[in-house]
Amino acid sequence: MLFGRRKDMASRPWRPSAKLLILSTVVTVIGFSAICASVMLDMRRGEEELARQSLDNLASGIEADISRNIELYDLSLRAVASNMVAPEIEQVSKPIRHLILFDHAATARHFGAIQVFDAEGRLTADASTMDPLPENRSDEEYFRIHRDRADAGLFISRPMLHRSAYSIVLSRRITDADGGFLGVVAGSIRFSYFHDLFDRLRLGQDDTITVLRRDRTIIMRRPFDLDVIGKNLADRPSWNPANLPAGGSYSGPGPVDSIPRLYVRRDSARPLFVVVGKPLDSILSLWRTQATRIAAVMMALIVFVLGTTLFLAREIGRRAQAEDKLEELATTDALTGLKNRRKFDASIDAEWRRAARQKVPLALLMIDADHFKSYNDTFGHQAGDEVLVGVAICISDSVRRAGDCAARYGGEEFAVLLPGCSAADALKVAETIRMKVQDWSDHTTVSIGVASLTPTAGTDWFELVKAADKALYAAKAGGRNRSVLASVPALTLVA
Ligand code: GH3
Ligand code: MG
Ligand code: MG
Repeated sequence: MLFGRRKDMASRPWRPSAKLLILSTVVTVIGFSAICASVMLDMRRGEEELARQSLDNLASGIEADISRNIELYDLSLRAVASNMVAPEIEQVSKPIRHLILFDHAATARHFGAIQVFDAEGRLTADASTMDPLPENRSDEEYFRIHRDRADAGLFISRPMLHRSAYSIVLSRRITDADGGFLGVVAGSIRFSYFHDLFDRLRLGQDDTITVLRRDRTIIMRRPFDLDVIGKNLADRPSWNPANLPAGGSYSGPGPVDSIPRLYVRRDSARPLFVVVGKPLDSILSLWRTQATRIAAVMMALIVFVLGTTLFLAREIGRRAQAEDKLEELATTDALTGLKNRRKFDASIDAEWRRAARQKVPLALLMIDADHFKSYNDTFGHQAGDEVLVGVAICISDSVRRAGDCAARYGGEEFAVLLPGCSAADALKVAETIRMKVQDWSDHTTVSIGVASLTPTAGTDWFELVKAADKALYAAKAGGRNRSVLASVPALTLVA
């Protein structure tokens, strides 16, 4: 039982590492932050998409209303233009002529009276009166366009003061059967129409609606500003077909002011198109509040988790230090500072197996103080302890290789484990120790039993201990203060 195996003390149970803890926390925090950021970005995209849809619906409604009214008014202009070239029109009386010409003319609150001008620009007929005052419009842009171009179709003028109200003038050319120019029929849509239309909509303060002609002349804009009306954007980069195509959208500052908005353009084949805009600030304000709240909660959690992790990591570090210290204490002999018996048993077990794997010898010295009982009896137990410390110093001075293990085996007995050491080399080390003790002390000597074995199948480390012990007895029997090497035949006997 004396040489029974013990559990291998060298293997250490798994210890949580502070670095691993910090790393896993940092990875977790980064992971959660990434998920959170991606969810918030998705929410933002959702808000923008929602705003785009509602702006698109709004623009589409406005565009449809404007188109329908223009179409309606254009029908009246066409009717007047075709009636003008009917041959009978010159033969009937003035009231009949008026009736024929303007019978189908649409009249509505925001539509101006339709007027007919001859090839020289003179006013010849007016829906509002039977006897119009003389008037000449040959200088107007719409007159010149129709005179010079037969294919102008429905022409929509820039906004202008027309009969003391801001209006756009819609006009068509009157053409005879041979394509000759007979004059122009013109009517107007007052701005009150647009005001009326826009006032019916529920809009934010900085929301904009802009009605433009195909050449990007601003016909109307909400909020209303006379300086902006009539401006042509053809030479501006904003809202060109590349960055704001028909049915598309665009985020950023517009051509009129610097407020960044989401602009959506609605377009049909009509001569006018509509762009509506909403400030990005107001689109994203709800999202911003939510994002800020989530980010604040997230930050607080991160700070808490990191703080807890750092605290735990420090505790783990402290505990590891304490464990190391405890282990050191548990494996050290208190008096001599050498390894204790427990550690020695664990070491010899591990070294024996390692030697077996590597097929190298493992040497063991068993050292015993001579006549120590009488030393104690003569000089006292305390003096005896001091001698033991001195012997331990002599031993550790002679055993310096890494992997060597010098231990107090019990009482006044010491053991030294020398992995990879041959019998001859082990004997040399034993002699060094013995000489050191002899030189150091006047009264104390040691006897040393030396054994070196290469483990083979079926052998155990207690055979090595037995052999060294046997050699130690031989040294004692041989007169003490000597080193004796275990002889091989003795070993085979033991084995
Ligand atoms: P031998 O040469 O045959 O080894 O003679 P010995 O007296 O050394 O042998 P023995 O085993 O009879 O006596 C060992 C003595 O060592 C007994 C005890 O008084 C002493 N001893 C054992 N442990 C300690 C210790 O921790 N401190 C002191 N001071 N003495 C101890
Ligand atoms: Mg003894
Ligand atoms: Mg002794």
